[in-house]
Amino acid sequence: MVGQVKHACIVSVGNELLSGHTVDTNAAYIARQLRSIGVPTVSSHMVADLQSTIVQALRLAAEEADIVIVTGGLGPTDDDLTREGLAEFLGVELELREDLLVRMKEWFQRRGVPMVRKNVVQARIPRGAQVVPNEWGTAPGILAEKDGTVFFALPGVPREMERMLAASVLPRLRAMARCQALAVRKLKCFGAGESTIAEMIGEAMARNRNPLVNCTAHTGVITLEIVATSPTVADAERLAQAQEAALREVLGPLVYGVGEETLAEVVGRQLQRLGKTLAVAESCTGGLLAKLITDIPGASGYFTHGWVTYSNQAKIEELGVPGELIERHGAVSEPVAEAMAQGARLRAGADYAIGITGIAGPDGGTEEKPVGLVCIAVDFEGRIQAVRGQFPWERHLVRMRAAQTALDLLRRGLGR
Ligand code: ATP
Repeated sequence: MVGQVKHACIVSVGNELLSGHTVDTNAAYIARQLRSIGVPTVSSHMVADLQSTIVQALRLAAEEADIVIVTGGLGPTDDDLTREGLAEFLGVELELREDLLVRMKEWFQRRGVPMVRKNVVQARIPRGAQVVPNEWGTAPGILAEKDGTVFFALPGVPREMERMLAASVLPRLRAMARCQALAVRKLKCFGAGESTIAEMIGEAMARNRNPLVNCTAHTGVITLEIVATSPTVADAERLAQAQEAALREVLGPLVYGVGEETLAEVVGRQLQRLGKTLAVAESCTGGLLAKLITDIPGASGYFTHGWVTYSNQAKIEELGVPGELIERHGAVSEPVAEAMAQGARLRAGADYAIGITGIAGPDGGTEEKPVGLVCIAVDFEGRIQAVRGQFPWERHLVRMRAAQTALDLLRRGLGR
């Protein structure tokens, strides 16, 4: 952990989470809310409805974090054991709180429902702990402290948990983390794998440093998330900015955007700025490239035509690809991709055009041209550039990577 920054751990209790019947959305929700007030979450544990397991998780959480938020296991049934687990961890007894019992009776009365004996257990909290009010259900939340770590136990029901978090927990944590600010930036990269990028940026990805740089990969897009913590927002921003500049310096044109930007968005902006138009001719991507381009609002300002020319005949008739070129090199070849791009540009009267042809699989590969081979060409106002990619994955991934690679080729050719 870095300096005096407060860190959080989330403990989600419930057999239904571990059986896969319920997805742990509480942890994701809480982590997002904590981040919004400058508190990074360092770990999240999912545990069964077993007292000993809950105690173990609390011990681990206390080692890892200054703030621990537990959800679930506060109900009235025998499998709701968070109260007992928390009391054992704190080394105290559970005590019946008369004020909570009165409140609970009123809660049932207001709804005209009889309160059963089972509910009484929900009025028991560890001795010395405080109550986190629950206006939305029967289970009160619990706030306790041990050796400088604060523990909040909240119900598992998402709507109750969310409201209690907003009403009681976040205001308190905001005060605790008053001198703590978080600045987050994301750099989007394309054109190299996760490990290559990690190697290029070297020490920047070391843990236990500030800013932290986290890396995730999705359909060829590598996202580098910079998380800087500091006592003031301005200083956290400064740290994040400096880190961003350092990463950009090393990664150069691999960085295509920031935040949640997509390649199609960036290419769209470039075309708009240049006042140029684009057409596409697709084979193996079957319209996916045109979809990615037209997903962006305002695409009509630069996108003119899209052809899906799946058969050889369509390539010949629709785009004017010479039949003998297909015969000589095969439909999946750089010369055919180039002819598709050129044909699309000329027939559309566009400034730029992309041609894609490949083998998406799972069948249709040969030793010379295996499944996943994709040839992509861009015609930049008469200057043609082609690449050949080998994407050895499932059909949908081959298609997605082919479309993204085509956009990236165009992006790099258009310059900043
Ligand atoms: P209750 O007082 O209603 O019994 P509780 O604190 O005991 O609340 P649970 O019994 O564990 O909570 O769960 C109540 C409901 O909330 C269930 O429908 C469960 O699926 C849902 N839930 C519990 N934990 C989570 C979680 N981490 N993420 C999403 N849903 C959850």
